[in-house]
Amino acid sequence: MSVTGHFDVLVIGSGASGLAAAVSAEHAGARVALATKGSIQSCNSAKAQGGIQAAFGEDDSPELHGQDIWASSHETADMGLVEILTSEATSAIHWLEHYGVEFTKESPSNGGGAYRLARCGGASAKRLLQVGDRTGHAITTALRKAAEAGGLTLFPKSPLHELDRTEHGWRARAGEHTIDAGTVVLAAGGRCFAEAEERGELSTNHPGATGEVTRLALAAGVEARDLDALQYHPNGGAWPETMQGYSIPETTRAYGAVLLNADGEEFTDSLGPRDVVSQAIVDEVAKGKGVDTPDGRPAVYLDTTRISEHDAELSLPYMLRRYRAAGIDPLAEKILTYPVLHYQNGGLVIDADAETTLEGVYACGEIAGGTHGRNRMMGNSLLECVVFGRRAGRAAAEKAST
Ligand SMILES: Cc1cc2nc3c(=O)[nH]c(=O)nc-3n(C[C@H](O)[C@H](O)[C@H](O)COP(=O)(O)OP(=O)(O)OC[C@H]3O[C@@H](n4cnc5c(N)ncnc54)[C@H](O)[C@@H]3O)c2cc1C
Repeated sequence: MSVTGHFDVLVIGSGASGLAAAVSAEHAGARVALATKGSIQSCNSAKAQGGIQAAFGEDDSPELHGQDIWASSHETADMGLVEILTSEATSAIHWLEHYGVEFTKESPSNGGGAYRLARCGGASAKRLLQVGDRTGHAITTALRKAAEAGGLTLFPKSPLHELDRTEHGWRARAGEHTIDAGTVVLAAGGRCFAEAEERGELSTNHPGATGEVTRLALAAGVEARDLDALQYHPNGGAWPETMQGYSIPETTRAYGAVLLNADGEEFTDSLGPRDVVSQAIVDEVAKGKGVDTPDGRPAVYLDTTRISEHDAELSLPYMLRRYRAAGIDPLAEKILTYPVLHYQNGGLVIDADAETTLEGVYACGEIAGGTHGRNRMMGNSLLECVVFGRRAGRAAAEKAST
């Protein structure tokens, strides 16, 4: 059998966490390869619209951010990881800016120059930075360019299907390639696309989110936590048909949209934690207070007409374009919504360097568990990808050099 290449660090997956790990490992001087299942662009990260949390507000702090995570997770998050996440959030934002991400700023008439911050579900302060409503796309584009400029060796269309320990590190079989590396960073995301298919439900996820790398890691002996805790996004698009499975950004609610039942009554705090809001919608429909979509699916209203034109144009242009192209103007009429399978809260157990319980194997992003406990807050996943992707890349490079 011929080995395709020998590297210091092999990254599996080309979402925000894998790209952050690759950039960081390259920066630390490692020879880095990245193997991914589809094209390098294919991932959940690029679909993320809403934004990324960091405590820049005057009334905010990393401690407050941490407390919000603890409460939203129903006191199940690993507070060691949370402290790292929240205390490195502002430097993660500046790191992204260094690679070219341009976060939306307030207009000159409204505190010009400062980051435009929104309050997301479960947050006690405005903390969500955005790049319009294509935040994930902006982050992955910038990191992809940085990784490629750093000399990355890329193996697209090369799904990982075997990982074995060797005398000097790890041997991966990815697609048709056999790749040797000192250390491995698993950044292959979650499994909600496959899970939704099994349940006969809709999902916001891209088709590569199928979870086989988690299963490989478990088989190799890596420990995991909270794998049963899957998250429903409260606001899946329910109608029109072309918007089914689309995640209506939570920033719609941050900018004033509220959930209404069939009688036009508010039935929950629209900015509560995700699991609470999703459950409230399901319960309202079960009580007979929902609305049926024209094709007979359950739904409630999201009253998006309460969003100002200014906020919509600055922070929701993509969502507006998508709905208007489908024949509905969310600023003129309420839209129909229902929870949709979205995110794997739990995952592989990691330490502060994002190393799993198997030495030399790191994990970051949605494949890892602990940071969100059993219920993630919006905007903390992209942050986790960057903060722990950077840590994983750096630590994997260092270990590979020893
Ligand atoms: C529609 C949508 C909107 C979202 N909005 C937000 C938001 O506003 N803010 C926020 O913080 N989070 C948001 N999220 C969540 C967040 O985007 C993701 O959880 C996060 O980006 C996951 O990043 P990742 O790098 O861990 O995984 P992904 O971005 O999913 O990347 C995983 C990569 O691994 C590859 N892969 C999978 N299996 C294999 C294999 N066997 N071998 C090799 N490669 C493999 C995939 O092809 C992919 O390239 C959103 C998610 C979705 C779906």
